[in-house]
Amino acid sequence: MSLLRIRTRHVRFIQPRMRYIQSSALVFRVIQSPSVENVSFCGEKESFQLPFNNGTRIFASKRTSEILRSLFVLKLCSYDVVAKHSMLLMSFGQRILGKTLFEHLLCKTMYSQFVAGENLPAIQDTIEMLRKCGIGTMLCVPNEEDLSSDYNDFSSREEMFDRNAKAILDCIEKTEEGGFSQMKVTAICSPLLLNVLNKHLGPYETSVDIPAGLDIQNLAGGFDHKIKFPVLKDSQNAHLQNVLARLDTFAKVCINRNVRLVIDAEQTYLQAAINQLVLALQYKYNKSQPWVYNTYQCYRKDTLNRVNANLKLMDKLSFHFGAKIVRGAYMTQERQRAAEMSYEDPIHDSYEDTNAMYDEVIYTVLQRVRDTPAEVMVATHNEQSVILAVERMKELDITSKDKVAFGQLYGMCDQVSYLLGQKGFSVYKSVPYGPVGEALAYLARRASENRDVIQRTEKERSLLWLELRRRMTLKPLT
Ligand SMILES: Cc1cc2nc3c(=O)[nH]c(=O)nc-3n(C[C@H](O)[C@H](O)[C@H](O)COP(=O)(O)OP(=O)(O)OC[C@H]3O[C@@H](n4cnc5c(N)ncnc54)[C@H](O)[C@@H]3O)c2cc1C
Repeated sequence: MSLLRIRTRHVRFIQPRMRYIQSSALVFRVIQSPSVENVSFCGEKESFQLPFNNGTRIFASKRTSEILRSLFVLKLCSYDVVAKHSMLLMSFGQRILGKTLFEHLLCKTMYSQFVAGENLPAIQDTIEMLRKCGIGTMLCVPNEEDLSSDYNDFSSREEMFDRNAKAILDCIEKTEEGGFSQMKVTAICSPLLLNVLNKHLGPYETSVDIPAGLDIQNLAGGFDHKIKFPVLKDSQNAHLQNVLARLDTFAKVCINRNVRLVIDAEQTYLQAAINQLVLALQYKYNKSQPWVYNTYQCYRKDTLNRVNANLKLMDKLSFHFGAKIVRGAYMTQERQRAAEMSYEDPIHDSYEDTNAMYDEVIYTVLQRVRDTPAEVMVATHNEQSVILAVERMKELDITSKDKVAFGQLYGMCDQVSYLLGQKGFSVYKSVPYGPVGEALAYLARRASENRDVIQRTEKERSLLWLELRRRMTLKPLT
């Protein structure tokens, strides 16, 4: 019996890695050989051809100044010191140069690479340009907070959270019908409250049976009437009630406008609480179809177990799965905190383990997509992951492109989005907009992420160089 269990576990461990090894070979050939123009997503030339190497067509819509800026910013992010200490460097720069000059410089570089503009009118051209390329826009305001920037007095901060909530509502109202609107819970809820809730909910993240009072039915009741969450003080309960009211309004407006509400995943010391809030919202609104999307980060060791526990809960309480699946954006911070506070690092030991988990989670949720009204967004820049997701869709005979969307971030890996758009897949760019001063934490994360996977950004830089060279030698587009 135990032998059988060991074998099953071995197969479960090896299988996803084998899929990676096999598809790595495909991508390796693509990257290495400049002569390979067309590559099939599915390994069958006639089914899905992708000209991965064709930077000229992909970047042709960009101005030369934009190409030069992208080259500069991606190179800058490849330096360890920039990626690891970006937040520190930014506050240092602000002190040395003064706020105005610093923000001007940031605007010309990192900000315009990763943030579309200051406000909605300023980003209309970007939205239009993406639409012409077959790419949808998932708008978001880059407002977020961490524990370090929080205060104990919730009531004095409600005004700021209300302001952020209004910006999120504006964003939803401007989102195209049938599209996605993305938000972070820490824009409308104190991280301190989330952290308190997290301590109580964390132990049940991979479980279906949660103690009475902490369950999603009780929390969901708070969308319609006053509740008392048992582990919270009065002031915390009052803040929670406001947070629930904000989330409820977002979901209602989204449904009225035929827009999906996508809620981001954040740090592990907040995420059990965020997950519980999202599940409660899904419990109320995802009865017939998934209007509310959660986010699962596959760099966490426990993600597959958390996904399976949530799927079981959905079966038990009859509501539908909707989520974007990402690798995770807080790796350096998570590792550092775990080391400082002497607890087990929640992040996979290696990039390969994260990749294997990503593949396995995608496969699990695609099966759910095939069998129920569930929907998923494969949110990644990784070509291998995109290839594998398309292969799995084919294997599971998922033909509806509306149920599986792909997502990339603005300013990153345009070649992946553009090619998916050209091939008729449902693909969205996550497009943040807002004042430069409010986007610093977002920009710091983008810097760190681009350092984490050098191979990917090197490929992007080489495609940009190709397009620049083509323009300098006045060669026509091929
Ligand atoms: C549309 C969209 C929405 C997103 N929303 C969120 C969100 O809500 N929350 C969030 O946290 N992130 C979010 N992200 C960011 C995402 O988590 C990744 O940081 C980013 O997409 C880069 O990963 P990748 O899948 O593109 O692949 P790659 O570039 O191939 O992988 C890079 C990622 O792999 C992981 N990694 C790298 N090195 C190691 C290592 N040594 N050990 C273990 N793991 C490693 C890290 O997660 C790193 O970011 C989003 C991304 C997209 C495209």
